[in-house]
Amino acid sequence: MDLGSMTRAGLNAESITPEQALEILRCPNDEVFALVAAASQVRRKFFANRVKLNYLVNLKSGICAEDCGYCSQRLGGQADILKYTWLKDDQVDEVVAAGLASGVKRVCMVASGTGPSNRETDKVAGMIENIKSAHPEVEVCACLGFVTDEQAQKLRAAGADAYNHNINTAESHYTDICTTHSYQDRTDNLETVKGAGLSPCSGLIAGMGESPEQLVEAIFALREMGVDSVPVNFLLPFDGTPMEGQRVLQPLECLRILAMVRFVHPDTEVRAAAGREQHLRSLQPIALELVNSIFLGDYLTSEGQAGQDDLQMIADAGFVVEGQDKDRHPGLEETQVPIRRRGAGTQLAPNA
Ligand code: SF4
Repeated sequence: MDLGSMTRAGLNAESITPEQALEILRCPNDEVFALVAAASQVRRKFFANRVKLNYLVNLKSGICAEDCGYCSQRLGGQADILKYTWLKDDQVDEVVAAGLASGVKRVCMVASGTGPSNRETDKVAGMIENIKSAHPEVEVCACLGFVTDEQAQKLRAAGADAYNHNINTAESHYTDICTTHSYQDRTDNLETVKGAGLSPCSGLIAGMGESPEQLVEAIFALREMGVDSVPVNFLLPFDGTPMEGQRVLQPLECLRILAMVRFVHPDTEVRAAAGREQHLRSLQPIALELVNSIFLGDYLTSEGQAGQDDLQMIADAGFVVEGQDKDRHPGLEETQVPIRRRGAGTQLAPNA
């Protein structure tokens, strides 16, 4: 593995080759920390020691007509999750306020389901307008599934900055994880939201039985699509889903994957998303040398590490929260942290 040439490419904002990406995924355990050190130079060139905080607001949970095999909200799913229809405006305000008090830069408004109706789009657009008028500095990302051109334009006009729709896995693996819609449907949707002026956010879920080649295929496809942020989820194999029983990845495997993503997307936001706590375990802080963005606190249908612990981890590892001045963060004493949002706000990464 020629770390020197990979690092030089990364520092020039150029991707490594698919062959090099595969080499990274096959890197022996005793070379992983050298790999992390190399990829960290690239991460620090473009993002210094900043960590962007993102915050999920689960507007609607469960009750989906799609059959994505990894998803606890899928059609006919038996996973034991909280199911509810839309949060009310005051509940959204409350959840958003908790996130903002912790220094989050982006709020991700997520709803389960194939896609919103026009009425639901209007509802979310109203919520976005409220957030942006009260907090113009916060980025708002919508994640509502498949949208029409008009719906995407309405969300953009309401002030949404970005739209998330993960491709989740390689095209060559897609029919193994979902049968009710296609990979192409998702990539078409990303083109729709890009056409409306929304910043495209799309990533993957590692650990769904894909091969290393398929992981590389997916991550290069995202580069090809020109996405602006890449969330990397690690599968949480929920009971009651077809992925129940999938093996949990080893922490060093996760570092290899994140290093590979960084080298393919040197100057793009790379986010450690759902599953980081369970898969990276004690190596979570090391992942900050590779990613420049995390979700704070909980995910869509699973609890993450407490927000306080996330902030402590960032500070302990010598990183700073993006957008916060130095004085506000290091001690944490003055930071109002929502310890956990159980119930209405608890979530898994944005897959909808
Ligand atoms: S990932 Fe989204 S579209 Fe797929 S089953 Fe879950 S909520 Fe439905």
